[in-house]
Amino acid sequence: MNQQYRLVSLCSANAAGEHPAASWIETIGADASVAELTAPSGLRGAAWDLELDDAQLGTLRALLREDTTEGQASLLVPPALRGSRRALVVTDVDSTLIEQEVIEMLAAHAGREAEVAAVTERAMRGELDFAQSLHHRVQALAGLPVSLIAEVAADVAPTAGARELIAAAHAGGHKVGAVSGGFIQVLEPLAETLGLDHAHANVLGVRDGVLTGTVEGPVVDRAAKAAALRRWCAADDIEAQRTIGLGDGANDIDLLTVAGLGVGVEPKPALRSVADGILGLRRLDAVSAALGWGA
Ligand SMILES: [Mg+2]
Repeated sequence: MNQQYRLVSLCSANAAGEHPAASWIETIGADASVAELTAPSGLRGAAWDLELDDAQLGTLRALLREDTTEGQASLLVPPALRGSRRALVVTDVDSTLIEQEVIEMLAAHAGREAEVAAVTERAMRGELDFAQSLHHRVQALAGLPVSLIAEVAADVAPTAGARELIAAAHAGGHKVGAVSGGFIQVLEPLAETLGLDHAHANVLGVRDGVLTGTVEGPVVDRAAKAAALRRWCAADDIEAQRTIGLGDGANDIDLLTVAGLGVGVEPKPALRSVADGILGLRRLDAVSAALGWGA
């Protein structure tokens, strides 16, 4: 049976060249009608309502994943995310909700930034087990003063459009949570500042005013990220179909897969292959625009 999806394309207002979305519609031979889109400032875009059968949907997904390039965004909004019923956004934190990788900022203070960055990069490409790599990286932080956490938290910069996405979600009565393989000691103040409804992350071990170089309790890995989404759905009485997952790395694969709409933010290749939205530009408000929130 055919289902109605909305395809949204956005690019920087000053970008050269056209977004390939119109050519994808031609390739799959879909019935398309132009839809309303209010592009965020600095971006231009277009939207179409498409009647898709399973084969067309599969081909369009593949095209979107392969052909959305730097400076472009493409989002395929599923039928369940149409309408105004309550929805939930669950976002990864490092390199998704914020510009930086917090563990690298902490490691920079320990003089071990290059070493930690190399492990992060391999983990995000899916070459290392996330929990192992986390323990390895956190060991590098042993002995650092706990006051460092507040210093690093103050340097964290939300990604462009993050505040707008959160404001648009809340204006529509929707919820926003952040789940991180990073650390709750940094995420909590950020969640407070941004007005997030939920936050979950690892707990850095602290003893006698210094970091112990360990993580307390179960590690927030890719399965735990998806579990957080399900937990918050239950708490807020929201169907999993009406969720949007945002991430950038391999440890966000489960989160994007379980979400109704999985969006990769400049995603690593391993994540790109499961995303129905690709942001090749760092503007999280592209997501609220695609959903018609705040329009
Ligand atoms: Mg990340």
